Amino acid sequence: MNNRGVRELLDRLLPQQCLLCDTDVVSAVAVCEACVWDLPRVSVACYLCAAPAQHADRPCGHCQQHPPPQQASLAPFAYATPMDWLIRTLKFRGRIEIGHTLAGLFMRMVEPVNLPDALIPVPLHPGRFQERGFNQSEELARALARRIDRPVLKKALRRARPTEPQTALNTAARQRNVRGAFDAAQTPLPRRVVLVDDVITTGATTAEASRALIRAGVEHVEVWAIARTP
Ligand SMILES: [Zn+2]
Ligand SMILES: [Zn+2]
Repeated sequence: MNNRGVRELLDRLLPQQCLLCDTDVVSAVAVCEACVWDLPRVSVACYLCAAPAQHADRPCGHCQQHPPPQQASLAPFAYATPMDWLIRTLKFRGRIEIGHTLAGLFMRMVEPVNLPDALIPVPLHPGRFQERGFNQSEELARALARRIDRPVLKKALRRARPTEPQTALNTAARQRNVRGAFDAAQTPLPRRVVLVDDVITTGATTAEASRALIRAGVEHVEVWAIARTP
């Protein structure tokens, strides 16, 4: 058995409590089966932007008019109760171990067809990173990478300039706010990469980060996020 196999076996043997209802679970994913079934999902989504859509096999109306730079996006959960609580607890209370559970839940919901060469997290603004002490997207990227046995290039992208927090802005202002916000800090980059973020809101941030990767020579960018706002 290789190291990865040993780690996965150990993970499965560690008993822990469900993060949502305190039931005992013996799994690497700290959410019990009953609570997994109750998580809010996006059942049909646009394959380009991961927004809820009527058809999974063609772009949504918005993407038909304004095709995003990335070739695909996956975000299996809706950013609603209790998924929003799990993500906020990771992000704002520093419960980094929740990243493993979120990565496990992501992998249960999606079946990535073509695995990437590497995973690249959306970088935090350096000031925010110092304040928080970690980048939630990097924690998620690491947990996802472990499950597919691919490397994380955590310094591949950097913030080229400071941006305002996106939460206070409307869609048009979000796009302006992040325009040119990223550049590739490491070249050459692999041909196929997955860009990892925690939540996709309007998609402005992940589109801009994807653009920076494509400018740096990446041929195929797929965005993976845990959740999508409705
Ligand atoms: Zn539970
Ligand atoms: Zn779309």
